Amino acid sequence: MGFFSNLFGKQTCCLCGTECGPLKRDKIKDKQYICSDCTRKCSEYVKLSELDKNAVEDHIRFMEKREKIYQDLLQNSKCSALPSTVREKGIRFYDDYGFLVIAANKNTKNKVNHEVIRYDEVMSYEMYTEMNKPTEQGKPETFKEDGIILKLVAPNPNMGAADSNNKNQHPYPWNTRDIKLCFRKSEKDTNYADNAIQHFDWIFGVHDSSKGLFNFGMSKEEKRDLQAKTDMAKLMGGVMKAAIKGEDPEGNEKLMEQMEQAQKSADDASSSGLAVYSRKADEAENQVN
Ligand SMILES: [Zn+2]
Repeated sequence: MGFFSNLFGKQTCCLCGTECGPLKRDKIKDKQYICSDCTRKCSEYVKLSELDKNAVEDHIRFMEKREKIYQDLLQNSKCSALPSTVREKGIRFYDDYGFLVIAANKNTKNKVNHEVIRYDEVMSYEMYTEMNKPTEQGKPETFKEDGIILKLVAPNPNMGAADSNNKNQHPYPWNTRDIKLCFRKSEKDTNYADNAIQHFDWIFGVHDSSKGLFNFGMSKEEKRDLQAKTDMAKLMGGVMKAAIKGEDPEGNEKLMEQMEQAQKSADDASSSGLAVYSRKADEAENQVN
């Protein structure tokens, strides 16, 4: 086929076989195309042009599984929605499951599946503000919009995830663009971006080393450390007793439970509390398998 027929001619969707014109398709790797109906099943933020046919198929299965987590578990559970009334985009935090879902006022891209992201897949979060250039010289800039930019942990440890300080993070399986979420386009609307940052700080344990007024003198970090030591002491005590009685610890159910608990507490102590959400997200994923 010549240049113009490639550019303007109809192509066949390599996934479903539909014929699609130039405005109704996306180019993926290896000079193949997928139709707009198949694109609707993909994440808005994944770089489809980097994926070949098999990878796109994997990605759609992944999105469908995440959608099932949303439908079966998250949808009717309590969440912190920021902003509480979505004007453009927003984030719904499901702390009980360790997942967040991106909320949109309008589904402009007609996506079929929600963007469902594990807390431990978030590599960074920051607030952004954009201003309009002044229309006349000497006049001040005016507010354009603000919101949150999320970056996800890259699938290949050599491509970005190394920037992450937290070894307990979980790679998102696909390379993504920055997830730019506009919270408001008018300064008259309440600022929720600060609240979202605070919620992320809380999830990632950013201020855990500071001592709150009502913490009885212990920071969250110190409490987690103490919990880990207490659980380890319990475990060691149990092991000693079993050893004295000549029992095999592997056959002792209570001891095995204590061992598991000590392991969990040690994980929590070493990963600023994020491990709690990783466990919740793992459980949610196993539930909808
Ligand atoms: Zn298709």
